Amino acid sequence: MPTNLKALTKRELFDYFKSLKEPKYRATQVFKWIWDKGEENPLNFTDISKELRNFLKENTEISSLKLQRIKNSEDGSIKFLFRLPDGLNVESVFIPMNKRRTVCVSSQVGCPLGCRFCATGTMGLMRNLEAWEIADQILQVRKFLRDRIEKDLKPVTNVVFMGMGEPFLNMDNVLKSLHYIHSPSGMHIGARHITLSTAGIVPGIYQLSEMKLQVKLAVSLHTAIQRKRIRLMPIARRYTIEEIRKACIYYIKKTNKRITFEIIQIPGVTDTDEDIEALRTFLHGMIAKINLIPYNPFPGGPYREPTNGEIGAFYRKLQRLPYAVTLRHSKGKDIKAACGQLALFFEVNSTAKHF
Ligand code: SAH
Ligand code: SF4
Repeated sequence: MPTNLKALTKRELFDYFKSLKEPKYRATQVFKWIWDKGEENPLNFTDISKELRNFLKENTEISSLKLQRIKNSEDGSIKFLFRLPDGLNVESVFIPMNKRRTVCVSSQVGCPLGCRFCATGTMGLMRNLEAWEIADQILQVRKFLRDRIEKDLKPVTNVVFMGMGEPFLNMDNVLKSLHYIHSPSGMHIGARHITLSTAGIVPGIYQLSEMKLQVKLAVSLHTAIQRKRIRLMPIARRYTIEEIRKACIYYIKKTNKRITFEIIQIPGVTDTDEDIEALRTFLHGMIAKINLIPYNPFPGGPYREPTNGEIGAFYRKLQRLPYAVTLRHSKGKDIKAACGQLALFFEVNSTAKHF
């Protein structure tokens, strides 16, 4: 099997070029070609010798995700379906908003956690994504925009791990993907502009607390009532509200950073006064932001979507808590696929039901 240059970190590229008796800086050059400029053909690496280019062409490969389909939405968001080398598919979303250009990436194919309100959860887990497969979603989105829309390779400014999968159950590869995403000779996206979202995998929260990373943490809480949370999210049995609270307090103490708590509004389920009071108790003593997400229904899903009136009422109640509250509003009512959830999250309107 030829070496996949895209799967190598810069350090691994150093070692690779060392073994070829090439100078160390080849690693930076090649890393830049791949992750900064998005070049997939070694023959186009114009700042290295023809001989070495030919050698790389013969003896290595630069794998990439293959674009299968896209769906445009009225507000400029674009939903992507990519094919992985083994034939499985993942979804990503590009979300332009003012000067921000966000890509929402998947970290797994499917998800093992089976939350009742989530379409991805109904798929089960197929497999973890490799680090390069996570980062390549961003690169391929950039290239699509360059080739089809913008003419030049513009940067992506923000990355959110809110696509398919639970990033904290694929921690090693997620952290490695940050190398490609964050590195100055890679995509050079600031750590503060990267958000990891977890359904409440407690060991992952502790692990992140100990790392000197500036990435942001979002916790999908949805309700702070333990017995209710178990019904919505089976993983809540394993990691209870009390354990999540302890881990979050520890994270804030260690990092001095704010946590965003995501709350899906499922009418009559997560938006009761009891939920507000439980949330008040849960958040006490934390630096926090609340992100209200109106539930986005999908075929076969068990809940209904909140009305605008219900959303407004819940939003105002949340605002009485001493934390910033943001609302992600769906304009489209017919987005029902896995990334549609994120699409909704970021105000996407689409006529797509499924890819
Ligand atoms: N597994 C991680 C990250 C991916 S899910 C997590 O759960 O945090 C990203 C976000 O989409 C989560 O906040 C999740 O709760 C939300 N989401 C899932 N299904 C949804 C739906 N039907 N409507 C609205 N938001 C949904
Ligand atoms: Fe997995 Fe997140 Fe969906 Fe739950 S909400 S099933 S954790 S992707």
